[in-house]
Amino acid sequence: MPNTRTHAPRGALVFDTRPLGRGAGSALTQKWTAPAPADLRLELVGVPEGTDVALEVRFEAVTEGVLATGTATAPLAGECARCLAPVTSSVTASFQELYLYADGRHDKHDKHDKHDKHEKHDRHDRYDEHEEQDDDERYLDGDLLDLEPAFRDAVVLALPMSPLCREDCPGLCAECGAPLADAGPGHRHEEAVDPRWAALKHLDDQATDQGQATGQMDRRAGAIDLQEG
Ligand SMILES: [Zn+2]
Ligand SMILES: [Zn+2]
Repeated sequence: MPNTRTHAPRGALVFDTRPLGRGAGSALTQKWTAPAPADLRLELVGVPEGTDVALEVRFEAVTEGVLATGTATAPLAGECARCLAPVTSSVTASFQELYLYADGRHDKHDKHDKHDKHEKHDRHDRYDEHEEQDDDERYLDGDLLDLEPAFRDAVVLALPMSPLCREDCPGLCAECGAPLADAGPGHRHEEAVDPRWAALKHLDDQATDQGQATGQMDRRAGAIDLQEG
């Protein structure tokens, strides 16, 4: 099985572009499986860390860098937005990202280097404007192309905001909280207010009236008096 990990000592989502070369038009398609990175999730659903993500990516050398076009398929686990039952499915995300050659640039784009990050901070005043412009651009790190940011953006975008255990999940009963799928179509509660609750409501209204009428009596005390009487 072809595995770029042998070429990518820094991570399963890092591609070494050397086999591709820098001749514009040269292209290479890779298929491999990588463990899912952490924190690939929204509130209700996500890709469990370490699960197998299947990737198929075409790397194409262009004049200014390498264009990566690919799809990733990953397992999903979460809970149904309507009934909170566990949901398992999968997500397929497509991405296309141009990675620019960083030759001749400041190596401030190397995010793996903490020392460099520190220096960047020191130079912040002078480079501020320049850096803001660069935020959308991705760069090769030498010959290495780190797919993770593009992969992460694409997968998170493809995650369902409201995952469902099934398309027609009826959710939970608003009265008792039972999952309606289990409770069955016959599950009902009396629509009219229970007469006993109606009586209590009446008492409560009276208590409020009396409290306001006497002006001195605490409402709560009024309610207690009435219940006892
Ligand atoms: Zn459900
Ligand atoms: Zn119910």
